[in-house]
Amino acid sequence: MPDKENTMRAMVLREYNSPLVLEQRPIPIIKRDQILLKVEACGICGTDLKITKGQLPSIIKLPHVPGHELGGVVVDVGEDVKNIKVGQRGIGYTYLPCHDCHQCRTGKQNVCSTITRLGFEHDGGFGEYVALPAYGFCPIPADEKVSDYAVLTDAALTPFHSIVALGKVKAGDSVLVVGVGALGLYALQIAKLSGATVIVADIKEEALENAKSYGADATINTKKEDLEKSVKELTNGNGVDVAFDGVGYASTFVPTLKCVTKGGTLLLTGYDPINSLPLDALGMHYNEWTVIGTRLGTKEELLRLIDLTYKKKLKPIISKYYPFNEVNRALEELSKGQVIGRIVLTGWND
Ligand SMILES: [Zn+2]
Ligand SMILES: [Zn+2]
Repeated sequence: MPDKENTMRAMVLREYNSPLVLEQRPIPIIKRDQILLKVEACGICGTDLKITKGQLPSIIKLPHVPGHELGGVVVDVGEDVKNIKVGQRGIGYTYLPCHDCHQCRTGKQNVCSTITRLGFEHDGGFGEYVALPAYGFCPIPADEKVSDYAVLTDAALTPFHSIVALGKVKAGDSVLVVGVGALGLYALQIAKLSGATVIVADIKEEALENAKSYGADATINTKKEDLEKSVKELTNGNGVDVAFDGVGYASTFVPTLKCVTKGGTLLLTGYDPINSLPLDALGMHYNEWTVIGTRLGTKEELLRLIDLTYKKKLKPIISKYYPFNEVNRALEELSKGQVIGRIVLTGWND
């Protein structure tokens, strides 16, 4: 157990569109099947901006501690927990599935009918301690950097599930990745690992340059070039087999769908929480396009990502570190679109 008084520091969202506030909060009391994790690293995701801006009001109950890409060290285990030891390091599978619904019983725990999530329905990793079901704890190899693995829980797991399980990308495929933020950088790497040729598109030259160092075969700056025209030129007029839209707003979805070859697939991985997307029904009919909504991934896939990272098949994508109590600075940078890769919170400034 933590030795100090039973309180911890946490960055708390008290009001939407306001900075998070540093507060002392009770350390969570774990149940028999839970572990207590001292959070050492937590990634900051675009969804955290949606949360702080109040775009997910039906899910988030204030006051709230965000943070869903967390990793750290086990400091306590419940009495029913057998195979996890105090002192072990690992990351938290963000979703808390019921293990008992139709989806859970058919291997689709990421769309469990009663899913709740760390950093959404439950307080997350912007606090010093998190109670986690033992099931969700994924150990990482000793001496590895927790931060490099913490971001796998969303930034890598979402594209991995999307590209491998749903998109079924295979050797020889052409893949378009639209938006090379953190998820896009992993999407690019995972598609390359699957044997695909990968084109990336973004509005930021710096992000495109960065993507080249992660193996992009071609880049398109959509501020300067027409996306569809450029993709068709790069694919002998065919379009790509699979497109990964990591943004999911009408401004990306509409042009991205036009880049998909007949019979191809668009993986809709980002989302606009407020507005629906227009869908070209006639285009869908003539081209037999498949559009797949995707949502995180399974714990089994997360374990595979840990292995791929350890074997250096995937390169870390962290661009910056901030102490937890400077989370507001990090969120501001993210909202201004200034972040290349992922910002990760580590340590607390006294
Ligand atoms: Zn996220
Ligand atoms: Zn379930």
